[in-house]
Amino acid sequence: MYDTFKELGIAPEILKAVEDMGFEEPSPIQKAAIPIALTGKDLIGQAQTGTGKTAAFGIPILERIDTSRPGPQAVVLSPTRELAIQSAEEINHLAQYLPIHALPIYGGQDIERQFKALRKHPNIIVATPGRLMDHMKRGTIDLSHVQVLVLDEGDEMVDMGFIDDIRTILAGIPEERQTMFFSATMPRS
Ligand code: AMP
Repeated sequence: MYDTFKELGIAPEILKAVEDMGFEEPSPIQKAAIPIALTGKDLIGQAQTGTGKTAAFGIPILERIDTSRPGPQAVVLSPTRELAIQSAEEINHLAQYLPIHALPIYGGQDIERQFKALRKHPNIIVATPGRLMDHMKRGTIDLSHVQVLVLDEGDEMVDMGFIDDIRTILAGIPEERQTMFFSATMPRS
């Protein structure tokens, strides 16, 4: 079993950030998911909001990013703009000692501002499905180097009618990838 972040074998920069953030030990979802996610395997995690699920997928994503390559290497899909902003913030805290940046992309925000931010080569995109599809259609986002896809609060996304958007997005991301699915409940779809 892994009782400490150190035992999880994560980079010293991330360990330092975790310490700064005041995390004393990994939460149950982190203990269960991080070792599997670090191997690159796909996984399904059942976890409610507030359980530490963002770091459960955020830490393995940070371990995976090759900072010598530009362009997004990980995409996190979130049901709401609030969650997208909050998750990107948490990932950026975890990445504070690494040259890695997560960008939130969501509906309702000025698209010109997003074009500009996307041109700065964020390593991680945390997006709501509709706006991400919009950028894919316009050709203003390059997802050809994405290696990790996270579906966060999957049940919420299904309830909100995002299933077709998610299918379209999946078709536009390399098949050779790691997929992580987090949900409070496990709907059949
Ligand atoms: P989340 O479920 O990802 O939204 O996380 C809920 C809150 O718990 C956030 O404020 C996190 O920063 C915090 N958190 C995540 N992991 C831990 C941990 N291992 N120890 C203490 N707090 C944590």
